[in-house]
Parts: sequence; C-alpha cells; structure tokens
Amino acid sequence: MSTRECGSCSLCCKVLDVPAVYKPAGQWCRHFRAGSGCDIHQLRPKPCREFSCLWLAEDWLGDEWKPSTSKFVMAWEYDGECLTIYPDPKAPNSWKLEPYYSVLKQLAARHLAENRLVMVVETSRRLLVLPDQDVVVGTRGDIFEWQITPKDDGSGQFDVVFDPVSDGRKGGATRFDQSPSQPQAASDSISFS
Ligand code: SF4
Ligand code: SF4
Repeated sequence: MSTRECGSCSLCCKVLDVPAVYKPAGQWCRHFRAGSGCDIHQLRPKPCREFSCLWLAEDWLGDEWKPSTSKFVMAWEYDGECLTIYPDPKAPNSWKLEPYYSVLKQLAARHLAENRLVMVVETSRRLLVLPDQDVVVGTRGDIFEWQITPKDDGSGQFDVVFDPVSDGRKGGATRFDQSPSQPQAASDSISFS
C-alpha cells in the first residue's frame, strides 16, 4: 500500500470530468484554487473522494510519473481492464515523451496476453495504444467492448477486435494484428470489418 500524498498536484481536478460539480473534462474545476486546492474539500462529491490516480497507488511508478511532473494522469477504467491516460490539454503529447512512452508500449504489449488495453483519453477523443501503433478509436464518451485472442497460426501474434457500443454504429469493429515482440508496419496491421 502506497503512502504517497498528492501534495501540490491537482491535475485530476483539471483533466477529469466530474458531472456532480458540473465540471467538464480538460478545464480546471470551478472549486479549485491555486495554492490551496479544493475549496469544498469537506463537501467534495463521492467521485472526487474516491479517485486515486495510479501514481498515488503504485510505488513502482517513480516520482517522474507524478502527474504534476509527467503532465498526465493515469487510472484504471473498465474495472481494471483498461489502463487509461488523461493528458493535460496544455501538454497533449506528454505521454509520448520519454521515459514514459517506451514504458507505456511495454505495458501495452504485456497487457495483450491479459485481454487488457492501454488507452489515452484526450478532451474529445480516445486513442488506443498498441505495441506498434497509436490509433484514434473514438470520442471521449464512447464505450467499448474488446476481445484479444492469440492467433492460432503459430505467429505469436494477437488478434485485437475493438468495438464501439455506445453510439449505435454498426459494423464498426476494428481489427488489429499485434505482436508484443515483433512490431509490424502500421499499413499492414489495420483492417476494418
Ligand atoms: S492526479 Fe493523482 S497525485 Fe495528482 S491530485 Fe489527483 S490523485 Fe493526487
Ligand atoms: S470538487 Fe474539488 S476535488 Fe472535485 S474536481 Fe472540483 S476541485 Fe477537484
């Protein structure tokens, strides 16, 4: 159990949406005060009380992963099945910098075998982070189902089927062939079914 504290970091009060206080994603909450934090701390809603970013919970992430330093917040979505990265809109590509990007790619590869995903959630869109490519797959509010299965052709690759279910789109499943150890050319690896 981590004993870390937020300290002067408040980035989750900017990047997340909190409907209970009418807070849109990507803007500082109207209750946030620079230097003193939340001005309704004792009365803050349940989502704020319960939120804990990955850096706060996980000691294996070094201090460079603290959101106020990295400029992105990491948390689990989909009951722990999707590692989600919320970049500060002022630094939208912060997760693509080192030392972060290579670690996120390693996590994306490792998660394939566990039917888990790594995803970046910007203010308006979602990107799927796969071992050899990053792909825009929908809007921030979209909900998804996915299935990752090892190919049975002995290639060591995984078949990733990613399906939006929130907006009534039909036939929108996207299929990716992914190898955790042998990156492919992006042009060869995406097909639409
Ligand atoms: S992003 Fe993490 S460390 Fe920063 S204030 Fe939120 S919970 Fe605390
Ligand atoms: S209510 Fe407080 S804790 Fe919640 S987002 Fe706003 S400033 Fe942050």
